[in-house]
Formats: sequence, C-alpha cells, structure tokens
Amino acid sequence: MNQSLYLDYAATAPMHPKALEAMVSVMESEYGNPSAIYGLGSRAKKRLREAKRGIAQLMGASMEEIIVTSGGTEADNLALKGIMDAYASKGRHLITTKIEHAAILETCAFLETQGVEVTYLEVDQEGLVDLEALEAAIRPDTVLISIMFANNEVGTLEPIEKIGALARKKGVLFHTDAVQALGQVPIAVDALGIDLLSGSGHKFGGPKGIGFLYVREGIGLTPLVHGGGQERGLRSGTENLAAVVAMEVALRETCENRDAGNAQKRKIQQELYTRILEEIPYCTCNGSREHRLPGNLNFSFAFVQGESLVLTLARKGICVSSGSACTSGKDETSHVLLALGKSPREAGESVRITFSGQETAEEIQFFLKELREAVERLRQSNVGYERFLHSCSC
Ligand code: PLP
Repeated sequence: MNQSLYLDYAATAPMHPKALEAMVSVMESEYGNPSAIYGLGSRAKKRLREAKRGIAQLMGASMEEIIVTSGGTEADNLALKGIMDAYASKGRHLITTKIEHAAILETCAFLETQGVEVTYLEVDQEGLVDLEALEAAIRPDTVLISIMFANNEVGTLEPIEKIGALARKKGVLFHTDAVQALGQVPIAVDALGIDLLSGSGHKFGGPKGIGFLYVREGIGLTPLVHGGGQERGLRSGTENLAAVVAMEVALRETCENRDAGNAQKRKIQQELYTRILEEIPYCTCNGSREHRLPGNLNFSFAFVQGESLVLTLARKGICVSSGSACTSGKDETSHVLLALGKSPREAGESVRITFSGQETAEEIQFFLKELREAVERLRQSNVGYERFLHSCSC
C-alpha cells in the first residue's frame, strides 16, 4: 500500500484551513503597521486587539493579559526569566519538575548560572507531581512554581487546579506550560489558579513561530526583548498580525470542536492501546492510563530501538517520533521516561504516537499492521532478542 500517515501531532499540526485562509487574507489586505496612526495602521491594530481578545476569552482572561511571542519557547523564557528578575527582591527560588520541556529546563539551567536556586520535583511512574512534595519544597523565598499542564512525550495531565490552589495559599506565583494542553483541555485561568500560561500556535492548527504568554493583571514582568515598546512594553517588535489572527482562528475552531474531537481521539487511543498490547508481545505503555491527553500514546517495545522503529515506519510513509520531536535531533535518552522510573534501555525503546482523531479505520489498520511487522523485523535482527527467546523456551 502506498499510503502516508501523519501521527506526530504533538510535534506540530497542519494548519487549520480556516486559519490558513485568515492568514492569507490578512497578509494580502492588512499590511499596515499596527503602530501607525493612519487608517491602514489603526485597522491592523484593531485586528490585532480582536485576535488577542479572542484568545484571552477562550481562557477567561482579558486582552491586556496576553503577550504575543514567537512561540512556546519564548513564552517559557519570558515567564521564567521575566518573573525571577521582577521579583528578585522577594527571593531567588523557583520550583519546577524533572519532566518539563527543554524550553523550561534549559531556561532553569541558565537561571542557575545567574544565582537562582531551582528545585526539580520528582514525578511518579505515571509522570504525576506529588502535591505533598510540592508543598514541602515551597520556601519563604520561593517566587515561582512552573509545572507543565500536559507532558509532551507521555501526555500526562498534571493536577493543575490543586497546584494552582496550593500556590495561591502559599503566596507563590504559578506558571504552566500549556503548549500541549491548549485546545485539547478546557482551560479557565481563574478557576485553575494560573498566573502565567504559555501557548504555541502550531500545536493546535495555527502557524509556526507564533505563541503567547498569559500574564495575570498586576503581575510584574521584566521584558526579554527591548525596543519600540509593543505588547505593553513587554515584547517589542512589529507584531506578526497575520500569524496572530490565524492563531486565534485555529484556537477558536479547536476549542469549539473540542468535545467531538476528543471523543474521536479517545476512541482511537483506546483501540490502539488495546490492540498494540494484545498483538505485540513484550511492550509497555508509558505514562498514565487515567490522566492523559486523549491524543497521545507512548510505548516501549523491548529489543527495538525507538529511533530504528521511527525510521522503519517512515519508509512506509508513517510519521511517529521517538523522544520529543524538539529534542529528537539530538542523541539523548528521554529525561521524561527516566524520571518515570524507566531504565535507559526502556527509554531508548520508546515511540510516541499522537493523533488528530480524524484518522480513518483503514489508516489505523494500516498503522497497526506496519507497526507489528516493523517491530518483528527489528527484533529478528537483534541478537539479544534471539537469546531472550531461547532463554524463555529453556
Ligand atoms: N513546551 C512544550 C510542552 C512543547 O511541547 C513545546 C514544543 O514541542 C514547546 C514548549 C516549545 O514550543 P515552540 O515550538 O512553539 O517553541
């Protein structure tokens, strides 16, 4: 079968047709600089404000609380560096987890070189943060807790509402990297006690290179980018209006269709989960059964290198990933799976499958068949597997 199948939605998603349409239309007709005071400029400014208001409303926030960035990475950098600088007189302690995206972990590593103390919380086998351990880690000089909403490798959903309530009780600011959750999970910043939230357009059908940071009104923040004072002086530079408009359209479309979309994803998740475990021996599902994004599965196949499996499936036109896409160019063992208690060998045998819910029954059959065959073929060429089978039959 000459077919291609994209199952790497956590890495990036194709643009939503309505977002693409809106983007092209703005690029064609709204080329004014939003800072200019003549008609073309004020029209662009109006479109920008409408788009930001739309994004804000989907989370129960107000337009002024949205700062447009170049994506999730910049939003994470701005949150952590901006808060730790603005509140340096309160303290220099930050709490995060061991399973964050590199955009958080590398920023923390940088902040450590600047004298910030970082506590990296452990997670359990499912990838969940322990609330008692979080409470015990909070000190009088703790300024910020940064815990991701949903993990990008195993899809674990953290207890955000409880973390938000604890942070509030203790008078500590709470940032969440919601790049993977946004669109798939309903998010209301007030009810969840979120003070800062990072989002990225290309994960929910918007363009790449655009994202935002939600910052609760009244919270101080030191900017990373200085210049013309756009975005209330918090992120200078002429705004990418077409991308902001497209991001808003994509987020609105995704949120409006979330229940139906998630139901379809859950159906596919359940089928793949059951059939992979039934039909392929010696494999385990990584992460949580219960607290998981509906569009995510992550498996370790014993005696199969994740990277080899990804390449074998790619030759059949199937796109999945090993580790997280953003770091998979590097030859690194998944820090997430290690934190979940997996051995380096098991972590190296993992593959992430993320889907849109739009996949047809034929596509799922095609994927399962190719996966079974690829795992079997790769195992056949592994002497360790032969030895293992031999030891089982003795
Ligand atoms: N945070 C998480 C959890 C992610 O999954 C990603 C991208 O994979 C990012 C941050 C970075 O977002 P961006 O690609 O928009 O810089």
